[in-house]
Amino acid sequence: MTDVGRVILFTPLESLGNELCEVIRLFYRSESFLVNPEDDAAQPGDLCIRHSFERNGQECLSRFDIGGVQLEKQHTLPLVEEERQELVDKRHIKRMSKVNLYDLLKQLTGAQPPWGSLTGIRPTRLIYEKLAEGFSMDDACRKVQEEFDVSAEKVQLLRDIVEVQQTLPEPRPDEADLYVSIPFCRTRCAYCSFPGEAVGKGKLIGPYLNALHGEIRRARQLFDKSGLKLRAVYVGGGTPTALNEEDFAALMELIMELFPEACEYTVEAGRPDTITRGKLETLMRLGVQRISINPQTMNDETLKRIGRDHTAAQTVEAFRMAREMGFTNINMDVIAGLPGETDAEFRHTMEQVLALQPDSLTVHTLAIKRSSRLNLEKFPLPDGQMTARMVKMGEETAQQLGMKPYYLYRQKYMAGQQQNVGYATPGNACLYNIDMMEETGSVIAVGAGAISKRVYPDRELRIERAPNVTNVSVYIERAEEMNQRKEALFLA
Ligand code: SF4
Repeated sequence: MTDVGRVILFTPLESLGNELCEVIRLFYRSESFLVNPEDDAAQPGDLCIRHSFERNGQECLSRFDIGGVQLEKQHTLPLVEEERQELVDKRHIKRMSKVNLYDLLKQLTGAQPPWGSLTGIRPTRLIYEKLAEGFSMDDACRKVQEEFDVSAEKVQLLRDIVEVQQTLPEPRPDEADLYVSIPFCRTRCAYCSFPGEAVGKGKLIGPYLNALHGEIRRARQLFDKSGLKLRAVYVGGGTPTALNEEDFAALMELIMELFPEACEYTVEAGRPDTITRGKLETLMRLGVQRISINPQTMNDETLKRIGRDHTAAQTVEAFRMAREMGFTNINMDVIAGLPGETDAEFRHTMEQVLALQPDSLTVHTLAIKRSSRLNLEKFPLPDGQMTARMVKMGEETAQQLGMKPYYLYRQKYMAGQQQNVGYATPGNACLYNIDMMEETGSVIAVGAGAISKRVYPDRELRIERAPNVTNVSVYIERAEEMNQRKEALFLA
């Protein structure tokens, strides 16, 4: 990764400006990315990239120029049914331009990003696309590897994931998940960009839960009126177990009373210090099978540094308590590349996780999001090679636990350009996670910051969304409007 001054991109395809900047970020680090600025005077240290694009019918020519070094790419847009043509043209033009730019940057820098020219969130989609075009799994993987220059290791990971997903029930067009958001946490993690509230502002919890209970009841009516069948229920946040025992029990009882027919229930117990025997008893009594107890790291110094306000010992204690009480599907989340951690600290976390033997493990890679404390404090991303080694350790630990990878997603500004992967032992994959990450299932979502999503059963995966407001106070005031937004989405 090379540091440069400003990156200045001139392109006739202005709507692709951000996408092209994502490709540039695979090779160069800069504070400032400018697309088609009016003042085009480059300063010493700036990286100036010029793009030209011509289209003649279905024939396209893209060319990039960096300091006089040029590379061009020709592409013929495929002819499809009229109603899909525009969408398919756009997708092909975007891909050819990105690959064209990628190839030139690779030629100039000699760098080899692990995911090649891919910058999207859901790379598994490409394998599914190739399979839908009639390619065998071997050919689909080979094509993705060649077209996008993805490493053999990452393509194998995609293949493993798709093969696991193919053994699991897909969401049917008449099904939807229910998501319930509890946007409260005891303290704020340094890497968090989630617009939630600290529980310290406890006066909002009562009014929030009142509004939320109302929205949950309306969600039941919405399922019934729309004819949608319930698939999975996920209670997330924030930290749902940040609620006190009484509020937590009332919420879970309402959910289970109104939505007893889901094939899967997950509750993010999240922070170990919010988990009590009473809350676990509530979940056990109500038949919730899957909980998440997230260490992120098993190193107390790091936990302090990232503002988690709990210890590794509390994670072990909460995990053991849940196991003793009979929970058979416990997930743990860890993060590779946390501030101050080296291979040794991450190895320690993996050893501890291995000893506890969770049923699923999610290995995240640190991503520095814009509104996180790490970004505000200008924390630099950790070394990419070290992060890659940590991610590998996570994968090996999951293998030792008898797990297979079952979902994957990528984010912007990720250390080492890696990925987040969910692993699970047989029978313990979370369907809700797959539905959300692959965007294959609709969701009726309630609570502040929750986003309902309607996935239309057509070939282009048309998706429409109805987001709830994220601010808790505003949500409380406008709860009725949130119900109406969802009704407009699902009853139209
Ligand atoms: S527990 Fe999750 S939602 Fe809460 S502050 Fe930490 S990262 Fe954000």
